[in-house]
Formats: sequence, C-alpha cells, structure tokens
Amino acid sequence: MESSSPREVHPYDLRLLTAKAVSFRTMVRFEASDRTKLAPQTRKTLLLNLTNLQSFMGLGSNDQDLSDSLEATAQTLEILLGLSIESQQVKRFVDDFRSEARHYKSIRAELESWLDVMREYSLRYLPLASSLSLRILLAAPEWCDPPLEQIISAITHAQEEGRQITLYLRSDALDLDTYFEIPGILSHEFWCHSLSSIQASGQESEQAPWRGCDPEDSWEEGWMDFIQNTILRSPDFPTPPQYHTWLVPQLHKSCHGYEIQRADPANGHQRSRGWSAALHAQRFFHQCFPAYSPDEILIEFSVKINSINSLSGSKRVVVDLFLKHLAYSEQDQSVQTSLNQLVRGRAELYHLISPCFRIDTASRHVTIDVEGLLKIVENS
Ligand SMILES: [Zn+2]
Repeated sequence: MESSSPREVHPYDLRLLTAKAVSFRTMVRFEASDRTKLAPQTRKTLLLNLTNLQSFMGLGSNDQDLSDSLEATAQTLEILLGLSIESQQVKRFVDDFRSEARHYKSIRAELESWLDVMREYSLRYLPLASSLSLRILLAAPEWCDPPLEQIISAITHAQEEGRQITLYLRSDALDLDTYFEIPGILSHEFWCHSLSSIQASGQESEQAPWRGCDPEDSWEEGWMDFIQNTILRSPDFPTPPQYHTWLVPQLHKSCHGYEIQRADPANGHQRSRGWSAALHAQRFFHQCFPAYSPDEILIEFSVKINSINSLSGSKRVVVDLFLKHLAYSEQDQSVQTSLNQLVRGRAELYHLISPCFRIDTASRHVTIDVEGLLKIVENS
C-alpha cells in the first residue's frame, strides 16, 4: 500500500478519534472494574450515544478545550441515559468516562508514547537505534488516491534522517477492536521496518538501499510479525504510562487476534510460513539453550539480522541456513524428514552457529555476533 504524499487527518477527525479512544477505553475499563459485561443492548446504546454526542460536539467547537467537551458529553449522557435507563451501572459508567477524559491527552500523544517505549526497549538489542530519527504521521485515508478502504493501515518510509511511520485511521469507522489494534500495527512498523539498515551517524552511504524487512516480502513480514507480537506480549515490555493495567488484556486480545488473522494461510501462504518458521527457530533455541529464554534469543537474533547493513541477500542466506538445518523449507512446508535427519540437522546447526552466541552467565544474556555469523555463512 502506497500513497504519494499522505495528508494529515483534519483537526475535526483528530478530535473525533480522540473522543472515540476515550469511549473505548472507558468501556473496557468499566467492564474490567465492574467484573460484569454490560448487556449488549446497553453497551450499544452507550457507545452510540457517546459517538453521536462527540461528532456533534466536534463540529462546532474546534477551539474548545477537549476535556471541557468531554465533560459536557458526560453531563449530557448522564441526563439522557438517566432519563431513559434508571441504573446505578450507567452512573458508574459516566464517572469512569469523566475520569478517563480527564487523564487522556489525545490519540496523537498516545501514538508518540508507544513509539517512545518501543524505541527505548529496542536499545537493549540495537544501541544504534538511539541515533535514529523517528516520526509518526497520522494521515487521512480518504485523501489517498484512491482512498484507502481499511479502517487502519500503516507504512514506513526510510528518509535521509531516519524513518517516518504513516498511520492511516478512518475516524468514521474506528471501533473498539480496531482502536486496540493500533499498538500492534505500530509495533509491526517499528520492529519490522524502522530498525533496518541503521548506521552510526556520519557513516550513511550515498545510495544505501533499505535492506531490512522488505514490505513486499510476505515471508519476512510473517517472521517479523511473530517477533513483534512476542515483544508486545512479553511481561518485560512496558506499556506507555497512559495504558492502565485493565487495558492490557484487551490490547493483547486485539493485537494477537489481528496477528493470528494475518498469519492464517488463507490470507497469504508466504506470510503464514514466515510466522511458522520463526516458531520453529524459537523451539530450536529452546533446545540449544535450555537455561535461557528462547524468546529473548529469538528476538535478539531477528532484530540483529533485520538490521544488518551488508551485501544484499546476506540476511536471507542466514535465515535459509537455519531453515535448511531445521528441515523447514520455505518452498515446501511439509518436507518429509525422519526423526534422525531432524536431530542431525539441529546438531549441525548448533555446531555451526554456537561460536557466534556469547552467553553471559552473570546477566543470563545471550549476545549474537551477526558479523561472525555472516562470515560462517559465506564460508559454508
Ligand atoms: Zn510490513
């Protein structure tokens, strides 16, 4: 998906997106704290009322402070629903809405926070990422030519000074599930496409092509989707400060659902195979280094390989080496191999690569020498 020059969302749509975000967060917060699900009809009525009020509110009050508008919405909602539904539950919902509206800044601020925590977290694998300039553009899908149909989509561009992630959101169609998929999509753009081909400042080559995860390559997309999903679900990964604990299960549910759908062979065989290949590699690491976290090793390995800035194709050769020895062919997922072959393949791979895996027993951290790995690949 490509767009020549994406246009930023209109301020009105930005307000609507923010107001919707507050409503969806309130819904999840309310249901988590009340420990009871609202009746489907009540849920629908609440969200419909909120959305209607917010659209109306957004039309004529661009200069009004957003939190004032949200407070006005809460009051109107109280009156409307108080008249129609005599319920303590609804009163508590409005209280939650008020509290959420008071603390939530804007959808743009939320996106920036996600980028900040991801970048901070990436430094443990890729210290060079600290010099990367990274910006996010919240763009209007209806202004693309042709207009984008998806509720949510994104693309990353390599720019001279860094990366720009363009996130397209349809303000009219954004719903609760798609709102909670946003972090997963940002995570994909960040881990798969933003950390590629990074060089220390001053070392940029004139025509340095982009050699990270290729957006045109579904297989790589699948592999890196598995990686970013693992990171997002890691207990170690910090969610941004405005992400309260009651939102996290919904976040994992929505993002994981989105990824599982992407990894479904019905939606692309290559991407599905990339995903399963990463799963195979994770099991291999678990067998080789049983005392260490297979997730950590897989992430370290994948992020490093994804970021290398060496001769085109090297990265693929390293991955192919893994696949060959794990008896997992990209072309043919159902290769028939005996147990003996499988065991021998894994042992050979371990023998080949283990000199490049440095284990610090004190910190229990595994570091991978990717340059060394490339040399081994060249000589094998
Ligand atoms: Zn992608």
